Amino acid sequence: MLKVQNASFSYLENTPVLKDISFEIPQGTHVSIIGESGCGKSTLLKLLYGLHDLNAGEIFWKDEQILGPAYHLVPGFEHMKYVAQDFDLMPYTTVAENIGTYLSNFYPEEKQQRIHELLEMVEMTAFADVKAKLLSGGQQQRVALAKALAREPEVLLLDEPFSHIDNFRKNALRRNLFSYLKKENITCIVATHDRTDALSFADSTIVLQQGKLIAQNDSKDLYQNPPNKYIASLFGEVNELPARLFPEIDASTETILIYPHQLKISGTSDFKVTVQQSYFKGSHYLVLAKYEGKLVFFESLEGLEVGVLTGLEVIKT
Ligand code: ADP
Ligand code: MG
Repeated sequence: MLKVQNASFSYLENTPVLKDISFEIPQGTHVSIIGESGCGKSTLLKLLYGLHDLNAGEIFWKDEQILGPAYHLVPGFEHMKYVAQDFDLMPYTTVAENIGTYLSNFYPEEKQQRIHELLEMVEMTAFADVKAKLLSGGQQQRVALAKALAREPEVLLLDEPFSHIDNFRKNALRRNLFSYLKKENITCIVATHDRTDALSFADSTIVLQQGKLIAQNDSKDLYQNPPNKYIASLFGEVNELPARLFPEIDASTETILIYPHQLKISGTSDFKVTVQQSYFKGSHYLVLAKYEGKLVFFESLEGLEVGVLTGLEVIKT
């Protein structure tokens, strides 16, 4: 269990970056940390790894307290690995050697076997003998992941781990990586701005806003019942519309949050919007329209002409 109790931290006096954060993460769970840029995601990961000293509060992994540099000459913890937003590889060393950095030379065969396994997982086998500095950003990111996993950590902390990796590879890599981590019961915490990381691969999600933890919940619950617009919008476009437009929904609030895929065109609805733009998304169009001067997003199988007036209704789920 990773336990964070009332943790507060600031880089500069009088400007708190993280405020009274508490949460617990059971061993083997995958958790994503989401929130707008600058809300403190990277800082939180660094604190979990002991790279800074807390101003208040405590962090524990199992029975061991995670302490910062004031108490620890060498930062970091044996049972944890942290992959920063700027992955640090040895530029003049090959991919294979980088991955093997933390592996013992006493067992050369096992070492080669392990490097080979990890190269396959991150789909970098063909680059084993290439020097790290010659790789693209995305390739370096994949090598940094493999390096962090070489000596299986108990906890893996990843900061925007797929940000440089193209979509085509990203999905395969995520599937490989997260199923491996589950199999080995490795606890994984990912700071991310990619909703797929949270929705498809995290058991639960922590939401930060201006240094405060405002939600921790099952990722699916958080998406399906977002407590507010800030949280919903971290998962993509969302509409905040007057509840009176949807008399069929039993709402206790004045406005309700509706995702674009929850709206559909209706010939009979009195809720009429004017189309501004249609964006082709492959399987559908995302249509941007206006209602009483405010933007409304909905999905449509067909692109719609600019200026068309169309009725919308909510899809009952
Ligand atoms: P995120 O990863 O969510 O984008 P960060 O944790 O990087 O957010 O940053 C949180 C806040 O702390 C921001 O306001 C940022 O400017 C500030 N910050 C980050 N690193 C430092 C630093 N080394 N010194 C001073 N302020 C910092
Ligand atoms: Mg960051």
